[in-house]
Amino acid sequence: MDSSLPSAAPKCPSHPDRLAATTCSRCGTFLCSQCVVARPERLCAACLARKLSDLPASRPYSFRGALQTGWTLLRARFGLYLALTGVFALPEALVRLWVPGLQALLGFLCSTTLGLVGVLACLSCAAEAGLGRRIDWWTALRAALRAWPRAFLARLGAAVQVALFFLLLIVPGFIRWVQLCVVTPVALLEHSGSALRRSAELTAGWGWSLLGLLCAANVLLLLLVGSTALLVGEVAELAPPLLGPAVLLQTWLANVGALCVEMLMLGAYFGLKSSTERAEELLFEQDPASR
Ligand SMILES: [Zn+2]
Ligand SMILES: [Zn+2]
Repeated sequence: MDSSLPSAAPKCPSHPDRLAATTCSRCGTFLCSQCVVARPERLCAACLARKLSDLPASRPYSFRGALQTGWTLLRARFGLYLALTGVFALPEALVRLWVPGLQALLGFLCSTTLGLVGVLACLSCAAEAGLGRRIDWWTALRAALRAWPRAFLARLGAAVQVALFFLLLIVPGFIRWVQLCVVTPVALLEHSGSALRRSAELTAGWGWSLLGLLCAANVLLLLLVGSTALLVGEVAELAPPLLGPAVLLQTWLANVGALCVEMLMLGAYFGLKSSTERAEELLFEQDPASR
């Protein structure tokens, strides 16, 4: 087009009449300004597609895939999860130490209210990690507080429904438990519609696989909580002065264990979602800038 251009200047491979403005940061191919599809990372269309399909959040659902994604998300920010869980499990531990008569009730109330803030903050970090992004604890905490009312109500609704179905008969209880197993990620990451209905939609068709995941994860959690509670009982008899630290440690461990189950269900949620939707849509929906 322009004969005055030096012939050695690189051209865009898709638009030979244009000079290359840059190169793809991943594969190095020349790109004109129109061919750069992801900014500021400077990616070509092929590399963006490859990157999206590599994201933990875009693997389609399978039993093994959910375990892998959950494990990837857990490892992504494990130190931060330990810290957040420690801070938000502290009130529960203190209540258990200092209010002996009502410890079960008050501890439960603490974990379902304050503890949930910690869980949501960790899940926010993990969800961003699943989409290839990194947020700091402060951003995660703000996202957690924003999502708290919706997540609290969704979890309460799910717990009541599962309990009622179990009272009716065992089998409907299990079915409802599986159907509502991703209400927390839904309440956190999707901002409209009924989280309970959405969870039931997403889980449809994967009942046995999800039941297996839920049972395995919760049996492990029960073993962890039960065995550490037994140890605390031993400490109370053998070394009463160490009871305080033992209760703190046990509450922390139990909360970390519960968080592992939540991470697994976040992994399952991403899988269920990308089995039906494209990763790109997921990415745009999660982008804080586009809200
Ligand atoms: Zn490229
Ligand atoms: Zn081009």
